[in-house]
This record gives sequence, C-alpha cells and structure tokens, in this order.
Amino acid sequence: MRTRGPLTRAQLAEQTSLSRATLSSIIQTLLTKQTLTERAVSGSAVRGRGRPVSVVTLNPAGGLALGIDLGQRRIQVTISNVAHEFVASGAIACAERTPWARRLQLALDLVDNLTTRHDISLTALAGVGVGIVGPVPTDAVRSPDRVALVGDTLRARFGVPVYVDNNTRLAALAEAVWGAGSGVGSALYLRLSYGVGGGLVLGGRLFAGAGGAAGELGHISVDRDGLACSCGGRGCLERYVSLTTLQAQCDSILEARDEKARDLLAEAGTRVGEVLAAACNTVNPEVVVIGGELAETGDHLFQPLRTAFRRYTHGQVHRSVRITRAALGPDAAARGGIALVLTTSPAALDQEASRP
Ligand SMILES: [Zn+2]
Repeated sequence: MRTRGPLTRAQLAEQTSLSRATLSSIIQTLLTKQTLTERAVSGSAVRGRGRPVSVVTLNPAGGLALGIDLGQRRIQVTISNVAHEFVASGAIACAERTPWARRLQLALDLVDNLTTRHDISLTALAGVGVGIVGPVPTDAVRSPDRVALVGDTLRARFGVPVYVDNNTRLAALAEAVWGAGSGVGSALYLRLSYGVGGGLVLGGRLFAGAGGAAGELGHISVDRDGLACSCGGRGCLERYVSLTTLQAQCDSILEARDEKARDLLAEAGTRVGEVLAAACNTVNPEVVVIGGELAETGDHLFQPLRTAFRRYTHGQVHRSVRITRAALGPDAAARGGIALVLTTSPAALDQEASRP
C-alpha cells in the first residue's frame, strides 16, 4: 500500500492472492489499530448497484514524506502523506551555476515556507527523497562530494533517513507510481531534454543495477566512430538527440513548423527508436514512458520512433510493450523522491505509524 496508494479490497485481493476471508480479517485488524483507514469513493454508488465502492489506504496521519528536486534550473519541493495524498508543493528558479550549498539553502527555505503556509508539522516525517543532477553511484566512495553534502545537510536538519538519487531516475519512479506507467509491473523511462537520461522500474521499485546506473539510455553508443561524449564514450545517443544538440541546428525545433525542424525530429525519433528497441529486447518492459521537452513535439518524434522501434524489436517484445508520453509535470522528480521514501523506508514508516 506504500507503493500503490489507495486500493479497493478487490485490488488488494488480486495483488496479494489472499482469500477474501483472510484479507478481510487482516484489514479489520489494521483498521482497528488505525494503521489503515477506509473511505467510500465519491460517486461510485451511482455507477453500480448496492454498496458504494470503498478504498483502503494507509492512515494519512501515519507519516509524511518530503520530496526535493535539486534540478539544473529549478528547485522543487513536494510533501505527501503515506496515503499518497500530496499536501503541499512549490518551486523556485535557480541558475545552472548556483552552488550546491546555496541550492540546499533555497530548498530548505522553500520547505519552511510551505510548512508555514499549509500549517504542516514535520514531526511525523518518515524520510526525505532527493533528486540531484548527475550520476549517483551505489558505492558511496565513488560518489561525488555533492551527494554527501546533500545527505548530511538534510539528515542534520530533519533527523530522518535521506535518500539521494539522480533526478531523472526519480522522475522514472514517479511516472511508474503516479503517471503514465501507473499500475504496471515494469516501466522503462527515457527523458529527452537538454540531457538524455532514463530509469528502469521493476515491481514498483527503481532498479539501480550493480553501480546505480541501470537505464542510462543516453549513453548507449549509436555510432562507434561518432562524436566524443562528456562521459568518456563515443557516439552516445545524447550527443545526437539532446535539445542542446538539436537547438544548435535549428533553434525552433520544438515548434516543428518548418521542414528542417521536422526532418531533424524524424531523425532523432529514428535513433531513439533504435536504442529503445535494443533496450526493450533486453528488458521487455510493459511500458516505455518518454518525457522531456522533445516528447511534446508529439507525432513528429513519435511516428518515426515507433516505426524504428517496430523494425528492430523481436515480435514477442513489440507486441507486449506500450510506448507512451510521460503524464507528470515538472514536479515528477520531487514526487519520485517521495516514492523513494515510501518504497525503501518501511522500517521508518512502521515506527511512525505505531507512535501513540
Ligand atoms: Zn556518453
């Protein structure tokens, strides 16, 4: 329920494979302990006959999760309770060169501002999930200094577990929980923006891989003799389809008005489709979610993308995968921070929920 949010009893039965009687007895115990609450879905009685449909959720008083996105040009703070209800959200612009310590201060000021304005107490805070720009290796020794700075500062300020991950990966998780990949078992996310990144979500959880770089679709090479990339590689997808590269060739590419822009988008779509085909042949996810500004050009990008994808995937793979545009807005990574807390911090949440 931490991962999925509100569910009907029928959905719970399906997810857990428990019998109705067993499930009913467990739910009753947890309702009595006030770990869970149950409420009718408004308007549901109108559609069907008999009793209105109700959903069971974790008790909203059981704890809060704080999501922060320290983005390249924007800092976002979002607060939710364990019942998946978003209670406050705000953002502030920053410059690309804003130092990390200053970004953190801006984020903390924003948290103070939101909690005051919405009268929120953070005493029941279960954890903080933070998205940052750039790689976040699973091995702390290899982590850039900013990862430790962000973690240490926020742990000292809030006294709760702090989880830090790359913000594109967090957007992937948020899309899988609340967005275009909601309710599916496996989702591959690709973000086409000034940088190109991605993330892989399996069984409702962000898949890190051995080093924390699973789903780094932007650095798959599409040309072995191609352009050198900042990652040390050559011919990386990002060097061809990032907004930075495309806008250098046509500054109105996002409007897709002239033939040049449309040709560039078609070529970018084809390259992306080829890379996604290889990735999907490996992972065979249920859904591919494509976000970032470039995805907003719609069919100009998606049509050639789908054509290339179909051409280069195994039949069994492309018959079972759905390609779709991202559904969440600019707060996706901050929401992903919340999802990270809800999916990786069960011990902390249990303590919160059992407080008198
Ligand atoms: Zn690269």
